[in-house]
Amino acid sequence: MSTEIPEEFTAIGVVDFKKWLEPKEFTYKPRPARSYDVDIKVECCGICGSDVHLASGAYGEIFVPMGAGHEIIGEVIRVGDGVKKLKVGDRVGVGAQCDSCGECVRCSNHHENNCRNHVLTFGGFYKDVNLPTQGGYSDYYRGSEKFMFKIPDSLESKYAAPLMCGGITGFRPLLTAGVKKGTRVGVSGIGGIGHMTILFAKALGAEVTAISRNHNKEELAKQLGADHYIATSDEDFEVKNFDSLDVIVNTASAYEKSLMNRVLQLLVPFGHFVAITAPKAGEMIEIDPLVLLRNNIIFSGNMIGSPGDIEHLLKFAAENKIKPWVEEISISESNVSKAWKRMKAGDVKFRFVLTDYNKCFK
Ligand code: ZN
Ligand code: ZN
Repeated sequence: MSTEIPEEFTAIGVVDFKKWLEPKEFTYKPRPARSYDVDIKVECCGICGSDVHLASGAYGEIFVPMGAGHEIIGEVIRVGDGVKKLKVGDRVGVGAQCDSCGECVRCSNHHENNCRNHVLTFGGFYKDVNLPTQGGYSDYYRGSEKFMFKIPDSLESKYAAPLMCGGITGFRPLLTAGVKKGTRVGVSGIGGIGHMTILFAKALGAEVTAISRNHNKEELAKQLGADHYIATSDEDFEVKNFDSLDVIVNTASAYEKSLMNRVLQLLVPFGHFVAITAPKAGEMIEIDPLVLLRNNIIFSGNMIGSPGDIEHLLKFAAENKIKPWVEEISISESNVSKAWKRMKAGDVKFRFVLTDYNKCFK
């Protein structure tokens, strides 16, 4: 009992890195199906900051054509013989990772997201068949059931989509840092991931401080539920707010050197600073070791989450009625172009979700 699957899927993406802001429709052959692979008909897909980073070649010009999108929601239309947890008709999500080796120590310990042989959902590569991976700006998607997750019925697709990458990226560090009722959490950067991190931290019972470069987002931060606001443009902000935070999740791309060292002083001894977004390839984070020492700061990084983390996130989001702020955009070449341009300009509150797939892909 399965819908007929076309031999080629149709996607929208970069066909020429010199004209990356003019994405085009193209067709591609999905990887040969493995026994544990699942085919889905895509319903919607969030636009993550990584889409723009990879499409613009910020991490190198990887390959063309490249269909972006790793916040995919769709309906299962075919399952392989070895598929155990999903069935045709299920509504599922796929995040930034679509495979791992399954054999190394990290995979065995449920750190699949840190597997050295992880495969990215788009912009990645299946070595076994020598094929690049294509993402969710596409009519269909094929991938391993291990990195596909059933969406709880009460969670609307447009809200579930941004959770698949941005949501887990903001949620996982809060768990790592042991955030609970009363923890004082700073969320630096009020954008796609940052706004979801504020929503999650509030749902965990934390007292939340939004941290931004200036006062422009103060009102928005309050609407998101933040209790306090720190603008790093304010003179002596670190002196006035010394020891005010137990945890900082940095969702902003970068801090120039001196600013990072000032922000770290907001933390209490043994406070956690978690970096979850990467600046452009080659850019470094610069920290004065004495700032780390004097304040006993725990500095860490986080890359998305494991399949187990994502299951936990979806359950938590459904129970706590987490609703990311989304703007729906009907998928088409021109609308993807517009959305990417607006992302570049920071003109989004706070996540685009591509919809209307049936209108675009006949
Ligand atoms: Zn592995
Ligand atoms: Zn992402």
